[in-house]
Amino acid sequence: MTDHATPRVVIVGAGFGGLNAAQALAKAPIQITVIDRKNFHTFQPLLYQVATAGLSPGEIAAPIRSILRSHTNTEVLMGEVTEFDLGQRIVVTPEARIPYDYLIVAAGAGHSYFGHDEWEPYAPGLKTIEDALEIRRRVLLAFELAERRAAAGETATPLNFVVVGAGPTGVELAGTLAEISRHALAHEFRSIDPARTHILLLEGGPRVLPSYADDLSRSAQEQLHRLGVEVRTSTTVTQIDPGAVFSGNTRFPATVILWAAGVAASPLGKRLGAAADRAGRVLVEPDLSLPGHPEVFVIGDLAALPDEHGKMLPGVAPVAIQQGRFVAQVIRQELESAGSRSFSRTSREDGDSDSRPSFHYWDKGSLATIGRAAAVAEFGRVHISGFIAWLAWLFVHILFLIGFRNRLLVFIQWAWSYVTYERGARLITGSASLPGWTTDQPAAESNAVRHL
Ligand SMILES: Cc1cc2nc3c(=O)[nH]c(=O)nc-3n(C[C@H](O)[C@H](O)[C@H](O)COP(=O)(O)OP(=O)(O)OC[C@H]3O[C@@H](n4cnc5c(N)ncnc54)[C@H](O)[C@@H]3O)c2cc1C
Repeated sequence: MTDHATPRVVIVGAGFGGLNAAQALAKAPIQITVIDRKNFHTFQPLLYQVATAGLSPGEIAAPIRSILRSHTNTEVLMGEVTEFDLGQRIVVTPEARIPYDYLIVAAGAGHSYFGHDEWEPYAPGLKTIEDALEIRRRVLLAFELAERRAAAGETATPLNFVVVGAGPTGVELAGTLAEISRHALAHEFRSIDPARTHILLLEGGPRVLPSYADDLSRSAQEQLHRLGVEVRTSTTVTQIDPGAVFSGNTRFPATVILWAAGVAASPLGKRLGAAADRAGRVLVEPDLSLPGHPEVFVIGDLAALPDEHGKMLPGVAPVAIQQGRFVAQVIRQELESAGSRSFSRTSREDGDSDSRPSFHYWDKGSLATIGRAAAVAEFGRVHISGFIAWLAWLFVHILFLIGFRNRLLVFIQWAWSYVTYERGARLITGSASLPGWTTDQPAAESNAVRHL
């Protein structure tokens, strides 16, 4: 099947890793197939803005076909990859068997509920546009249901929003929920006071933003406090029911629960048959290839690779981007060294991962936003907090957003909402029910924590 003159590269996943690999191979004399289960690329760092009604989905996503339209060597297929035949060098979807000479697997990661998948319906996580819309629906619906109940004469007690996990996603969700309830919604309801909404951020570890330096964690916690978020660290969630979160014997009433605690690599990693770490990330060679298969690369959130100090590379966009470009470079160099020889399966088998360069991550720094004019930034020994860090965050996120149109739209939206406090995408779509609302009567329940 692969005995053809034009080498064929198949890329699974058009997230940050896959898309950058495809773009870096644009002018190579090869045939590229990009397969993704979605027809669009999602800029995940801004998902929380969709979840909190600041941006619309179309402003943080772009059709893959349109991003790659000028790459004449690239075809885009929408499809779910279910299996690999590594012996025959074939990628399997329910509709097709697609041969490859090189394979790049960049299928990303999803949520982990630490063995409690039954919590998911009560505590959605944030990974996709669909997740963001579901979170937006629940958050906005909670205010509407509370208003309706209070308007009908029942006592209006504050809503309780509980965010589980104080990594970057949990922190930005909690901070933005506080901002919405205290500003954007503050004057729009007549029977409830949205500003009294209680936002609780629960973290199992001893500090928020555990991947950041101590001083930045402390600063983030202070900034959250100023925004009106209650933070409880060293609080491990042991049970989630409709309308309540438990840590041991302590019960936290919760109108809306959001899950930002665990990450699990795409199940596609398992289909590659290689060793994986506890999160299911594939343990790759230093050149990002699959052990024993130099023609297969695994990159981005799906790959586990230690840096030069033995610390695992983080699951962040710059790692995936740099890895995508790196494997593209390896492939280009090997094809160039094969020269004008007809590329065949036999010539590929000559290669091995030992003769290749190793991947090195260039860490340019980390940024985490907390809310309006609140963020932390770590550039080596330089640590910044507050407004300046937030400006840096804003600049980087607009710069890396895909498509000029999206950059312009997001910039305008942010400038507008900074001045007016408005959040323009406040649409409730889908179901009008909220888990726990009828069974647990959260609006009539005090926000006091109960010790059982
Ligand atoms: C809410 C949130 C906020 C984040 N914030 C930041 C941030 O501020 N800064 C930062 O650097 N990083 C951030 N990240 C992490 C960053 O987005 C990821 O590290 C990055 O997206 C990983 O890129 P990737 O290419 O490995 O995977 P993804 O970008 O996740 O892409 C995977 C692609 O594979 C496709 N796919 C999956 N399975 C299949 C299948 N079986 N068949 C076909 N296609 C499939 C998916 O549809 C998707 O398009 C955030 C992540 C989330 C979820």
